[in-house]
Amino acid sequence: MTREITTRILHADRLGTVEHGAILKPLHIATAYGYETAEELTAVFQGDKGGHIYGRQGNPTTQALEAKVSLMEDAVGTVCFATGMAAICSSMMALLKKGDHVVASRFLFGNTASWLNTLTQLGCEVSLVDATEAANVQEALRPETRMVFVETIANPRTQVADLEAIGKLCAMHGVLYVVDSTMTTPALFRPKAVGASLVVHSLSKSICGHGNALGGSISDTGLYDWDKYPNILPSYRKGPDAGWGLLQIRKKGLRDMGATLSAEHGHRIAAGAETLALRMERACANAHVLAKWLDDQPLVAKVHYPGLQSHVQHARAKKLFKDAGALLSFETVEGVDPFDVLNALQLVIKSSHLGDNRTLALPVARTIFWEMGAEQRESMEIADSLIRVSVGIEAQADLLADFRQAFDKLGRK
Ligand SMILES: *Cc1c(COP(=O)(O)O)cnc(C)c1O
Repeated sequence: MTREITTRILHADRLGTVEHGAILKPLHIATAYGYETAEELTAVFQGDKGGHIYGRQGNPTTQALEAKVSLMEDAVGTVCFATGMAAICSSMMALLKKGDHVVASRFLFGNTASWLNTLTQLGCEVSLVDATEAANVQEALRPETRMVFVETIANPRTQVADLEAIGKLCAMHGVLYVVDSTMTTPALFRPKAVGASLVVHSLSKSICGHGNALGGSISDTGLYDWDKYPNILPSYRKGPDAGWGLLQIRKKGLRDMGATLSAEHGHRIAAGAETLALRMERACANAHVLAKWLDDQPLVAKVHYPGLQSHVQHARAKKLFKDAGALLSFETVEGVDPFDVLNALQLVIKSSHLGDNRTLALPVARTIFWEMGAEQRESMEIADSLIRVSVGIEAQADLLADFRQAFDKLGRK
């Protein structure tokens, strides 16, 4: 029987061992785990027996969260990290080597774009393409291409990648297809449905939702044939090949690189995940109404939200996602300073975070996309006046009233 996502998350912990019959997985803060015999310790070390060794490779609390993310993504396994960036960069470091080629979307979270730049300095080549059309990805593929990396809905301009066609392309060429689904979350979309090999989440965002923990995850959908991946080291070609990729990611990316998710943060993220679907429903509904309202404002030049019919990939988003997400961005008309808009808002918090229960907004070109410079901003379609709004779960009327009073103030200027 397939139960709905919220039901599954709420009861996930009790599918395994829960100490003292607790209704959720307790917080395990021990650094290390001890065994009765040297034989047992050795068996855990060598992977012949399940169990924990040292906290850097995980603990029972983060393991329970990993199981939940796997449930949400219908994945064969998940490895959690300290942050979303740690998940992205550690898993790439674990799977790529000098001379490898990566094709990535041009429309990316700024820090991911910056990391890919570092990756080129380590001897990998990266091609940035407009991934809203699979043909651009196809053109960039080379014999040494190991990975294609895209975001479902790009942050902050909300371009929707050509997810299905890219999935087919990757399957045809045996290339790893890595999809960052932070913007869609498992409540709206399962990248496995379009052939993703690995699914990335910043757990710090909507999955946690409460702005009180950082975390990241990488899940293996089980669709990729690791036997064909040339960079799996001999020591990780062990057991069924479905587990090889994540084993190498856990050993190299987590054990050796060490950006481990703390048990406390894992615990908070797991609590947040229980209400993910409920919160997304409310935040998406708010985002729809706000996007439509902004679209009617004379001081707004353009609104970017996949839920609007005017969005270039509206039909694609509608077909693939349960809803259009809780993130929108808009450009002001010539002569209206985005700072004035932001400063006129009273309820909305000026902050760089997203996927929070609270509505947050920021001037993109002068904050998160400042460092990369004007040229790259233009290639990513980031206008100077772009304001990103991460829509929260406040009452719709209160949220709209805040934007209304802000624009009234600007109109009177
Ligand atoms: C925030 C974000 C990340 C990075 O996550 P952190 O947890 O902040 O490190 C990666 N991808 C996307 C799309 C994001 O929005």
